[in-house]
Amino acid sequence: MIVEQIWTGNAYRNFNYLIVCPQTGEALAVDPLDYEKCLARAKDNGWQITQILNTHEHGDHTGGNGPMIKATGAKLLAHKNAKDAIEGIDVGLGAGDIVKVGRTVELLALDTPGHTMSHVCMLSQTETPALICGDTLFNAGAGNCHGGGHPNELYDTFASQLDKLPDNTLIYPGHDYITNNLQYTLDREPDNEAAAKLLDELTASHDPESAMVTSLAQEKQINTFFRLTSATVIERLREAFPDLAESPSQREVFVKLRELRNSW
Ligand SMILES: [Zn+2]
Ligand SMILES: [Zn+2]
Repeated sequence: MIVEQIWTGNAYRNFNYLIVCPQTGEALAVDPLDYEKCLARAKDNGWQITQILNTHEHGDHTGGNGPMIKATGAKLLAHKNAKDAIEGIDVGLGAGDIVKVGRTVELLALDTPGHTMSHVCMLSQTETPALICGDTLFNAGAGNCHGGGHPNELYDTFASQLDKLPDNTLIYPGHDYITNNLQYTLDREPDNEAAAKLLDELTASHDPESAMVTSLAQEKQINTFFRLTSATVIERLREAFPDLAESPSQREVFVKLRELRNSW
């Protein structure tokens, strides 16, 4: 399996992806907003885009569908409950569905509500799993919930699905927000040495054209939304929310971290 990350360079800092079967050259385009860049990258490599996957219904993920379908005749896949929000879905996906790309690639659909209520993440069935996570999980961050989502459901998605994936799962998010998100992690947990070290490195070298790909194990060190039992996180949270319980639940910490992030 080839995962080709395409930096759009737009103001929203979107990443698009091509998931490619190396044997047949068939490709699935993920959220191909910058359809011209995606088409050019496919052409340069001799790949044929036969499917489009939208992780969710927001315009910065679906905006390239029309011209991409016109150029390739690709079939459109998205969450089955997004049919009223996304025009022209050919295949509606639910939890556990498998999407095949060419002969060698299989992607497992995860139903991951929270950022919106009809959001899918795709998990490659490979020795080193790759997670295409749209706006659910970002490098060092989590999606917001003010475009049709709910922080409680986002917490459930993190706790019951993402948290349980293998440590070596590679993370391919829908946006490049890593440096900003690391700053938020450090705002919440100033003694997080892994986050501080990575931010230092990226301040010198970050280039979204060849972005670093984190693993889930690394996210659990640098992403405040996975650090719900950190004593520093809880202590700092109490400064903003003096009524916070002595030992708050992980859900409560997550939802409050999400709330603070909205105005940070
Ligand atoms: Zn979104
Ligand atoms: Zn987005």
